[in-house]
Amino acid sequence: MSNPLHQDAASALGVEEQLRYARHLILPEIGLDGQQKLRRASVLVIGAGGLGAPALLYLAAAGVGRLGIIDPDQVELSNLQRQVLYDTASCGVTKVERARNRLLALNPHLQIDVYPEAFSLANAASLVAAYDLSIEGSDQFATKYLANDACVLAGKPYVGASIRAFSGMLSVYAAPGGPCYRCLFPEMPDPETVPSCAQAGVLGTVPGLFGTLQAHEALTLILGIGEPLIGALLTVDLLAMRFQKLRLPRDPNCPVCGDAPTIHTLAQTEWVCANTPRFQANEKLATGPAVPAAELPWLSLEASRRRPALRWIDVRTGAEFAAGHISGAEHAPLDQIESLPARVGSNDDLLLYCQRGERAVRAYHLLKGELKGRLSLLQGGYDAWLRGGLAETAGGSTVGGMEPPSLAVVERS
Ligand SMILES: [Zn+2]
Repeated sequence: MSNPLHQDAASALGVEEQLRYARHLILPEIGLDGQQKLRRASVLVIGAGGLGAPALLYLAAAGVGRLGIIDPDQVELSNLQRQVLYDTASCGVTKVERARNRLLALNPHLQIDVYPEAFSLANAASLVAAYDLSIEGSDQFATKYLANDACVLAGKPYVGASIRAFSGMLSVYAAPGGPCYRCLFPEMPDPETVPSCAQAGVLGTVPGLFGTLQAHEALTLILGIGEPLIGALLTVDLLAMRFQKLRLPRDPNCPVCGDAPTIHTLAQTEWVCANTPRFQANEKLATGPAVPAAELPWLSLEASRRRPALRWIDVRTGAEFAAGHISGAEHAPLDQIESLPARVGSNDDLLLYCQRGERAVRAYHLLKGELKGRLSLLQGGYDAWLRGGLAETAGGSTVGGMEPPSLAVVERS
């Protein structure tokens, strides 16, 4: 004898699902038919960061039946200001694993496929082909172009977003008849000319809004309702609270989706180091091919302690320096670095640092040849120094076996 309350013969959805999706089922635009479309759908989310985190939460809550998540990173403390999938206890755990657990706790009816690796030339085509559509939420241009070309070549639409500080833009690319990302930006920009979020900063609600909009576009595409942003670009300035919807036609001269495309395989995609960690990729780009970053005079925190005569030079912005810096460090922001040589003696031994290392590399190349004294770079930058201090405060072992310099105390204004 079965309990009539648990029979679902009257609906294609079980009792639990009828309750869970009640606010969808009551909408004439969704209803049972729409909910079943969502259940049968699959979405690949490229990057489980600021954009991917809210997108995944809403896709899972809505009942999209199969979600793929690709991201090589582990959760870091500096992610938590915007990546709402994770909590403090998630730090150090692989993002895709933490995301899977959280999403299954939210909605156990789903299949969650996780790929703890970078989206790269080796996996892009097969991954994109295995899902109905994708959401591209990476902060690296190489990944954006690779995702675009993979989706165009596979004939699969994707929802792309780019954000910075207080603004962003969003569109549906590679849909039938619609434009692609290369129709808007045919060539990948020089990454040196475009600061990453780590360098430029971003208010946490900005990726929150754009990731949510990406999930919304994916849902309306699956449901076949409304007017998705195909052939249209949404730009948002969240300081002025200005939303603009611009027409974005397909470019017949586009190198990948145009009438006579020049890119026919992913191997032809112009991409740089998408499968290497961000720090290494940027180092390589910033130093150029002539001097591999590994050959620069990096000093670990431990090694720097053995050089008491070092002058510590912080090349970050004034706001970053004011928020906290290594005690005793002098401030010489990268955009005014050319004034530094006039301030130092001919035999001064300088140690450059920024937040992670990218800008210190640029400062090194700008200063090299302008100084007589020794010039070194702090391995891992201020982040590594903070981590060392955090580990010490927690009574745990220090990161990478390094200890912070004894002179160093964080100054907070
Ligand atoms: Zn195109």
